[in-house]
Amino acid sequence: MVMGKHRPGRSSGSDAPPQTLRVDWPSCVARGLCHETLPELVSLDEWGYPVVSGPVPGWLLAEARLAVSACPHSALRLVSRR
Ligand code: SF4
Repeated sequence: MVMGKHRPGRSSGSDAPPQTLRVDWPSCVARGLCHETLPELVSLDEWGYPVVSGPVPGWLLAEARLAVSACPHSALRLVSRR
């Protein structure tokens, strides 16, 4: 039995492609709920529209999904980066 075997070349995170947040601008009403939910990645411009920085690090993926589901206008999405 091999316990604690190291697997070279593998990170401690997921093998899934990196994801980033995207805003559907015509649907966004600039109330800033996404900023309140995920201030680490979403700031607001002078009009209250979200300014997203990405990609989403693995340790913030759950919070990013929460911000997406909390957007009252379905204007925020998580997409795989290409
Ligand atoms: S929560 Fe949705 S509607 Fe509100 S600012 Fe963010 S993206 Fe726009």
